[in-house]
Amino acid sequence: MTAFPTVQGRCPACRATSLFLGDGGHVTCARIDCPDPSAADDLLHSKAHDGPSVIECTANDRAHWNDKYAGEGP
Ligand SMILES: [Zn+2]
Repeated sequence: MTAFPTVQGRCPACRATSLFLGDGGHVTCARIDCPDPSAADDLLHSKAHDGPSVIECTANDRAHWNDKYAGEGP
């Protein structure tokens, strides 16, 4: 049996404090009804270069991303 360590902070997708360090070291949301359990993990990978930082993400709703980054080239 393996115990997965919990991760401090909130899930960017469902805002719940349900993150844990899953298989392969990926931060995953434990909520069964989470719309995007890998949202936090995605932020830690390549998407961090394209979208907002984790701090920006937790400070703003996802709905604001499109407004902020629409029209901005790479
Ligand atoms: Zn979640």
